[in-house]
Amino acid sequence: QLQFSPSTAPLQHSALARLLSTLAVLEQKDGKLNVSSLAAVTAGVKLGGSITAFVAGSGVKAVAEDAAKAKGIEKVIYVENGAYEKGLPENYAPLLVENIKKGGYTHIFAGHSAFGKNLMPRVAALLDSQQISDITEIESEDTFVRPIYAGNAIMTVQSSDSTKIITVRGTAFPAPETEGGSATVEEGVDPKAECPTEWIAEDLAQSDRPDLSSAEKVVSGGRGLKSKEEFDRLMPPLADALGAAIGASRAAVDSGFADNSLQVGQTGKNVAPQLYLCAGISGAIQHLAGMKDSKVIAAINKDPEAPIFQVADVGLVGDLFEKVPELTQKLKSQ
Ligand code: FAD
Repeated sequence: QLQFSPSTAPLQHSALARLLSTLAVLEQKDGKLNVSSLAAVTAGVKLGGSITAFVAGSGVKAVAEDAAKAKGIEKVIYVENGAYEKGLPENYAPLLVENIKKGGYTHIFAGHSAFGKNLMPRVAALLDSQQISDITEIESEDTFVRPIYAGNAIMTVQSSDSTKIITVRGTAFPAPETEGGSATVEEGVDPKAECPTEWIAEDLAQSDRPDLSSAEKVVSGGRGLKSKEEFDRLMPPLADALGAAIGASRAAVDSGFADNSLQVGQTGKNVAPQLYLCAGISGAIQHLAGMKDSKVIAAINKDPEAPIFQVADVGLVGDLFEKVPELTQKLKSQ
């Protein structure tokens, strides 16, 4: 029996599907494809019609060839120019617009990442379209669903723009298989737009652990950890025992227990791992907004009334300072 999951089954099987054409904007860094940006391709697959992927920067021909192996893409367009390496929207937006005009696409999808959020509103403005942000479902070629108010309400948006400029929530459109495809690879047009902004430097947190946004398992700590020393003592061993990424609540980040890049929630990262295990997190709506799509939610909290237990599949009422080391020990001895 064949089954399509809701986010990958194509909507269109009619003549209309042949008229639809997606440009999926991919991200790369240092000549390596950012696999989670392939969510834009999944959105195109769901829509139906042809899918072209786009990538720009230095040494991106190899990235384009890599992306060409992803399932669902017909063509990959690349623009080789160091000026686009850092994805500065001031020159990337006119570049994308030139390529959109040339290809005449009906839908432009990009991830709802810092890059997509920075770029797509400018692209929309240049094309006189209204951008649609952070969609989680495609109802039809002009109707899209997106969460608002930190996921407390769901809005259905219909657009009459001829070119639809859309950012997609990665957790709702999982990346397609990265092997087995055989797209053609072609050079795109480069308008060489002036860039008034100069890239100076970046200061990124380094970690050997899985990437928080795409990890299969996440362990997250909150204000209940009490201090940075306790956070560092208890959370990394638990994460290592599970092979998980580490996340944190905003209260933990604001209190200096964890780095800002680890924040999960409305103003942090959106995650939807197979397992989200949190300790000392109360379950405020702004936190739930970033993790409630996780497949299994497990919570450790000493307060049986904590709101996190309303969304948890598995709950453990108890003192985390006892329970976390005990759990870590049990996992290690398995
Ligand atoms: P608390 O709410 O203080 O909860 C701590 C929990 O730890 C309690 O439930 C307590 O029972 C438990 N605990 C204490 N000691 C122990 C122990 N020894 N053993 C076991 N359990 C214990 N928050 C986010 O997380 N992410 C966001 O992106 C985010 N964005 C926001 C955006 C806006 C506009 C606003 C207004 C708020 C935002 N917040 C966000 C903040 C949010 O409202 C909460 O304040 C925050 O999530 C609380 O973090 P916490 O659960 O770690 O802390």
